[in-house]
Amino acid sequence: FAINMDQLQLDEELGKGNYGTVKKVLHKPTNVAMAMKEIRLELEDSKLNAIIMELDVLHRAVAPEIVEFYGAFFIESCVYYCMEYMDAGSLDKLQAAGVPEDVLARIAACMVRGLKFLKDDLNIIHRDVKPTNVLVNKKGQVKLCDFGVSGELDKSLAKTNIGCQSYMAPERIRGESQNNLGTYTVSSDVWSLGLSMIEMGMGKYPYPPETYSNVFAQLTAIVHGDPPELPEAEYSETARDFVARCLKKEPSARATYKELLEHPFLIKDQTSDVDMVAWVEKAVAFKQAAAIIAAQATLPESV
Ligand code: ATP
Ligand code: MG
Repeated sequence: FAINMDQLQLDEELGKGNYGTVKKVLHKPTNVAMAMKEIRLELEDSKLNAIIMELDVLHRAVAPEIVEFYGAFFIESCVYYCMEYMDAGSLDKLQAAGVPEDVLARIAACMVRGLKFLKDDLNIIHRDVKPTNVLVNKKGQVKLCDFGVSGELDKSLAKTNIGCQSYMAPERIRGESQNNLGTYTVSSDVWSLGLSMIEMGMGKYPYPPETYSNVFAQLTAIVHGDPPELPEAEYSETARDFVARCLKKEPSARATYKELLEHPFLIKDQTSDVDMVAWVEKAVAFKQAAAIIAAQATLPESV
């Protein structure tokens, strides 16, 4: 079925990214809660139509580790993209509660399976692996979203922003594989996976912008510095080795998805009885408490 705006009842805003806003919506004909992403693009209708058509392959991206795609449409110069609503949000906002090793292993297993499915079954390279693009629900499921399927959309979004948190692999920062979309290889996603795991393990992005005087210094650290590691005090040698295999500076030295799935860190996860539902519940409560404290801090003193 094709979705259109008339069928949607708009609810609260879920978040804002560099390119648009995500809102919770209700699809009235089916009574399904969805997340709708609005991306403003100053393009002519033929280009917008091409983007909608390219997004259509997302209907085939059906797997337990992939956020479901419901459809896309455009109005004026905005593309609207409807996907599965994930009621615990993205990992960047859940990691503050702490990510114990067994939870990190389950998240990594889901991410690797999702990325491998995209590559093997659909020949899609994600291109934007980072904690904001890993979504969680209260059932304890972990799913990937926002992977690059539309060359036209990528071209229209590009240039604008590299952001202050780069998950790009060193070879991409150096520009070796940026000359066209085709040369971006799957190993660049493996780097971003490793960096995302470090962020979850440390509770913060490992190259914090405040440490560097400018973006150039920060990117130089990624390209020329030693890769970050999981903290020794909190994670086992196995966990640390898994991440180290993702964060090799040389792309060809990085593990493949098959190798990562066979790594003792993920083998152990197969028989782990980690309670993801309990962890998500705790992390959501922590996030809500932090939001209340932040709101109070901004109230004028007289209140
Ligand atoms: P960028 O613009 O660099 O991709 P981003 O991923 O944070 O950054 P968006 O993809 O626009 O930006 O998403 C904004 C926020 O909306 C996310 O950080 C996430 O918390 C929330 N969000 C996105 N998709 C969903 C979804 N399907 N269900 C629930 N929340 C979502
Ligand atoms: Mg996103």
